[in-house]
Amino acid sequence: MIDDPEEIFAECKKINEKYNYFTEVGQGAGDSNKGMLNGLYITVKDNICVKALDATASSKILKGYMPEFNATAIQRLLNQGATVIGKTVCDEFGFGSFNTNVGLDFKIPKNPVDVTRVTGGSSGGAAGITALANFRHVAIAESTGGSIECPAAFCGVVGFCPTYGLVSRYGLIDYANSLDKIGIMSKKVDEMIPVFNAMIGQTICSDSTVVDQRPKEFKPRKLKVGIIKESLKGMDSHVEKEITRTINALKKIANVEEVNLPFTFKYGIPTYYLIATSEASTNLAKLCGMRYGIQGDVEQKTFNEYFTEIRSANFGEEAKRRIMLGTFARMSGYRDAYYIKATKVRTLIIQEYKKLFQKYDVLISPTMPIVAPKFEEVKKLTPIQNYMMDILTVGPNLAGIPHASIPIHKSGLPVGLMAMTEHLEENKLFHFLKLVEEL
Ligand code: GLN
Repeated sequence: MIDDPEEIFAECKKINEKYNYFTEVGQGAGDSNKGMLNGLYITVKDNICVKALDATASSKILKGYMPEFNATAIQRLLNQGATVIGKTVCDEFGFGSFNTNVGLDFKIPKNPVDVTRVTGGSSGGAAGITALANFRHVAIAESTGGSIECPAAFCGVVGFCPTYGLVSRYGLIDYANSLDKIGIMSKKVDEMIPVFNAMIGQTICSDSTVVDQRPKEFKPRKLKVGIIKESLKGMDSHVEKEITRTINALKKIANVEEVNLPFTFKYGIPTYYLIATSEASTNLAKLCGMRYGIQGDVEQKTFNEYFTEIRSANFGEEAKRRIMLGTFARMSGYRDAYYIKATKVRTLIIQEYKKLFQKYDVLISPTMPIVAPKFEEVKKLTPIQNYMMDILTVGPNLAGIPHASIPIHKSGLPVGLMAMTEHLEENKLFHFLKLVEEL
């Protein structure tokens, strides 16, 4: 472990040359106080604002945007003495599951275990540096539909996403407002708990942050664990082997039973992609080179010509696809049939989870059905096959419940187990994750 700041910056630059985890290595603007996070170095996903470092969400259209403020979640960590050491690359605006959809002119990160494979996305840079950091580090990342859990599973680190609304979204560049959550990655569960406690709550300016509730206390006892049966179909053989071994070990320390989530598995993907693309296309509309986004030459052009030129030249392919999908779903006459209906289905999904939590403390599934694929394998996937990869992670994200991926592989490529608890039961989740860590 190194602890000299100069050496740590040099180390990050060296790692970056080989693996492409950073959009920028550099220290965020100071005002760091002494506190309980003294000596902790944090990297921040590039869609979260840090004063004096560029915030581009890995998109060319935001190149050169340097915020003059810290996101609330980051400010709260700086107040406790943490130091920001850089911004990590992601899929453009968070649009992806492999981190191969980086914006134009950005570099694709490589898996820390095998450079011919992807890191997973969209928080691939965050997961990669978490795996390789040889200094005291946690990564601050964000999940809309699985962007913390998936790369954590593929890179072999712990990835945690809290209850929707516990961490302020102020200073987070929106993907889909009703789904976005800031969360944490680390090597060990214990490293993220003080960071989480420092990060929750509001300071100013976030109308969806819960202000009157805190995570519930939890007193350790034997837990009732539900394995989601639908999640066990279609795993690749390495994932299946590691999951089966872990479930058998868990049976010795907890009451483990199989449970069903049929509605969520049937409707999760279409519901998620309707809500996510509708909100994303709304959010991206402001990026047209007038008030927001990279600017071009307006001379002699109508608004439509200028708008089209800027957006054609500066959004990547997947961002364009999502703008079209989301704009279609929100068109007059379609809004009730798609977006509004999807939000109603989401309510039914939340209820399906809540019903299980009346009987079970924790639900588990594999995080991803596969191990980190090779770059050439990802290239062959169609957009629909890409979206289907999120089948296991969209459920807890739609439900807004706390969940995490924890590494369980004893050999070979990393495999993650995903654990989920009821809203505000983060402490129970951490307790369970530590049990898995000790297995
Ligand atoms: N893979 C999902 C998507 O592309 C999740 C991304 C995320 O959580 N930001 O929407």
